[in-house]
Amino acid sequence: MKQHYHVVVAGAGPSGIAAAVAASRNGCRTLLLEKNSFPGGLAAMGKISTICGLYHNSVKPAPELLYDGFPREFAARVMSLDLLSGPVRSGRVFVLHSRPGMIEAAARKFLESTKNLDVHYRAEISGLTMDGKQIRQIQFSVSGREQVVQADAVIDSTGDAVIGEMAGASLLLPDETEQAPALLFSITNFGDAFSDRSDIIRIRMKIKHAVDLGDLPRGTDDVSFSPDIGGGSAFVKLNLGALICPDHDGAESGLEEKAQDMKKHLIHFLQKNVGGLEHVQTIGQSGTVLHRAGKRAEGLYLLTREDVLNNAQFPDAVARGNWPIEKYSCSGAPRFSYLPDETAYDIPGRCLRVSGMDNLFTAGKCISADDDAIASARVIGCCLSTGEAAGNLAGQFVSKTDRSCP
Ligand SMILES: Cc1cc2nc3c(=O)[nH]c(=O)nc-3n(C[C@H](O)[C@H](O)[C@H](O)COP(=O)(O)OP(=O)(O)OC[C@H]3O[C@@H](n4cnc5c(N)ncnc54)[C@H](O)[C@@H]3O)c2cc1C
Repeated sequence: MKQHYHVVVAGAGPSGIAAAVAASRNGCRTLLLEKNSFPGGLAAMGKISTICGLYHNSVKPAPELLYDGFPREFAARVMSLDLLSGPVRSGRVFVLHSRPGMIEAAARKFLESTKNLDVHYRAEISGLTMDGKQIRQIQFSVSGREQVVQADAVIDSTGDAVIGEMAGASLLLPDETEQAPALLFSITNFGDAFSDRSDIIRIRMKIKHAVDLGDLPRGTDDVSFSPDIGGGSAFVKLNLGALICPDHDGAESGLEEKAQDMKKHLIHFLQKNVGGLEHVQTIGQSGTVLHRAGKRAEGLYLLTREDVLNNAQFPDAVARGNWPIEKYSCSGAPRFSYLPDETAYDIPGRCLRVSGMDNLFTAGKCISADDDAIASARVIGCCLSTGEAAGNLAGQFVSKTDRSCP
């Protein structure tokens, strides 16, 4: 007899964690499947230390949370785990800044303490069994062992509409020329001398000069360093806009290889040309190319750029967002289109319901939104909000069936 779950959540990124906790709190027997060996998705893979989209955009000096519910709880958990964390102003917006690794740590605490919830890591979903407009079974492998479970409702929080694609949903494809991926990696022997902002600016100016002279590959100057104060290491984010430019040689193939090559040149340059960084080295694995944009499943409503910038309100609102539309193109620096201060847009439940499917919901990066709208709604704060909403919607769906959550 196959195991039966009311709700199966695919992917344990920020949205999947929120969805799994919410579905479980609705009384649903819930299964969360994650192909990595840890929770947190891109936020954990990239050791991201800034949660965007949690606070009202305001000129007021004190930050105010945009959300109640799970995003608020998540922010509180991060702050309780890391006493150095807290909201900081970044230009026109506030962000929650913490030490790297805290998003994963907070996620683990929630998943471990939630009742009715089973979590499998290293569990890659490989197939579905459909019955008309419903998903009935999910196939996945854990350490090479195939397993099948029955599901009443499924939430696609894979960041790339993996479940939507398997179910045959219509997909919205990403445009990476406006959402360039990035290579994130850690370096050691960075030295506490470089924890000062002006030192970092000096390093970046040297890199830019070398790019202008042709001594470093084009695009290597689209880089930022976040020092781990007192730890002698730093996280490096190398935006790969230059590699996806239409005029870049062979841009269509080998992104990972080209990114690694760029990184190698950068490290070599730092060792040879920046006093104090002679011994700088990459730590551990060589880093991962992370994709800001992914596939999305077409829903019953498509959230648009106009909805975002005009703070659209909907009667079936289930989540909210207010982060500016943030684009990373070939030209380097990110470009922001801001909402008016103190405003936020609604995300209707229809964006989280997949067109042509009865029991499939989406959350996070793969909700139904156009390229510009998702460039706002993809930040972690908003993913926590759509994740919680998807968990609630799935719980409500199941409670209307004869297999209702207790
Ligand atoms: C370079 C970069 C920097 C960023 N910086 C910030 C920042 O500073 N602040 C901020 O707020 N946001 C930032 N973001 C955005 C944010 O991290 C992501 O948009 C957010 O994590 C998306 O959450 P998600 O839950 O939708 O998906 P993801 O985080 O992508 O999680 C999806 C999960 O699904 C799993 N999965 C996929 N396929 C399967 C499968 N077949 N079976 C099982 N599991 C599967 C994946 O392993 C992953 O864990 C950044 C993104 C990038 C790429």
